[in-house]
Amino acid sequence: MTWNFETDADFQDQLDWIDDFVREEIEPLDFIITSPYDLNDPVRNEIIRPLQKQVQERELWACHLGPELGGPGYGQVKLALMNEILGRARCASTVFGTQAPDTGNSEILAHFGTKEQKEEFLEPLLRNEIVSCYSMTEPQGGADPKVFQTTAEQDGDEWVINGEKWFSSNARYSTFLIVMVVTDPDNPPYQQQSMFLVPTDTPGVEIVRNVGLGYESESDDHGSHAYVRYNDVRVPKENLLGPRGGGFVVAQTRLGGGRIHHAMRTSGRVQRIFDMMCERAISRTTQGELLSKKQMVQEMIADSWLEMEMFRLFVLRTAWRIDKCQDYKKVRKDISGVKAAMPGVYRNIATRALQIHGSLGVSWEMPFTREVMESFHMGLADGPTEVHKVQVARRVLDDYVPCDDLFPSTHLPKQREAALTKYGDVLERHLETQ
Ligand SMILES: Cc1cc2nc3c(=O)[nH]c(=O)nc-3n(C[C@H](O)[C@H](O)[C@H](O)COP(=O)(O)OP(=O)(O)OC[C@H]3O[C@@H](n4cnc5c(N)ncnc54)[C@H](O)[C@@H]3O)c2cc1C
Repeated sequence: MTWNFETDADFQDQLDWIDDFVREEIEPLDFIITSPYDLNDPVRNEIIRPLQKQVQERELWACHLGPELGGPGYGQVKLALMNEILGRARCASTVFGTQAPDTGNSEILAHFGTKEQKEEFLEPLLRNEIVSCYSMTEPQGGADPKVFQTTAEQDGDEWVINGEKWFSSNARYSTFLIVMVVTDPDNPPYQQQSMFLVPTDTPGVEIVRNVGLGYESESDDHGSHAYVRYNDVRVPKENLLGPRGGGFVVAQTRLGGGRIHHAMRTSGRVQRIFDMMCERAISRTTQGELLSKKQMVQEMIADSWLEMEMFRLFVLRTAWRIDKCQDYKKVRKDISGVKAAMPGVYRNIATRALQIHGSLGVSWEMPFTREVMESFHMGLADGPTEVHKVQVARRVLDDYVPCDDLFPSTHLPKQREAALTKYGDVLERHLETQ
């Protein structure tokens, strides 16, 4: 029997160190550093580099990776326990070498890059000496990749890419982009597209504009989601990642991990918001008593705790299943389930925390409006919630068989008849002796 909810003492020591380190050294950075992805920011580099070194010395760097790529290969359950803590601060993933989308992009390069590409792009990426971008969504549609129109055509030893991509996060800071484009329009829909490595300084890569999120200020020009135009962008044929027409398969290499890692961090983020809610409830009075004495506030706290705990256990069990199966595809139902549950739990708890803080809650002096918006981010990036719910429903239903009778197999008269067939002799004997 191995059903166990305890953490090994050795690893708990590491978690305790991470907890202190994030609170003392990293949480303050959210007020100092504009973007942890901006490698040209001298303030960022002066503060973050030494912190990264400390993490490396404790062998906690890039824990999503196995030893073959320089990580400790802790597996997903330990990573989940770590990521819960890292989720509390915006810069924490970068300090620990687990920041999206570089994590997923490094998995693609590790699987499909040439030796030279690994030396030039993967190794510096794993050391956070460069930043990368995943460029897939297009302005006319993101949830349905079958509508993508960006193309690549072969011209001798080169591919020529033309088209537009939308919401390519961190393109402005990146050294390379991984771009999904149509190469084989006559193939069946899921075999029409291919993945390419495109150095960002290739002639023809044009950032039309950098789009920010609703809570960010347009005047600051810190938008980090790029509208990118590819104008006759030429890359050598070696820059095709994976098989021609295999873009969807290559995309899956990164998406499984990306989704569960977001959920692990969200679990920690939600815990932090919940803590704020509870502190306020036992500190603020109205009508002569604490908010925590009001039943409707108690309901908000109880509902939040239940949702948070259920979500956390779901994330941890999914992480455990990934470790057991060693194959994201075999755990797709759970990963899609976690992805679909995440924005709702996040949004509910952030909204209740905002409400309990009253006017302070909606102000820019508390983080809740940003957190509510971020919950929508989690419901869109890596696929909208609706699409994941469809996946869950399909995979759940795969485990059932139809009943070919007019009435369901659990129809009570049928069950009663079967029970009587099985135990009728016992009943009869008892009736005879009465
Ligand atoms: C903060 C953030 C960062 C992102 N970073 C990146 C990135 O780095 N690279 C990248 O390529 N993309 C990125 N994206 C884009 C993201 O992948 C898309 O937003 C997502 O795939 C949805 O595409 P869309 O925005 O075009 O919405 P649409 O495709 O227009 O869908 C709009 C809405 O329609 C509904 N809908 C869609 N499909 C279905 C369905 N099957 N059933 C029912 N309802 C449905 C959903 O409510 C959905 O939200 C990012 C998005 C956000 C918010």
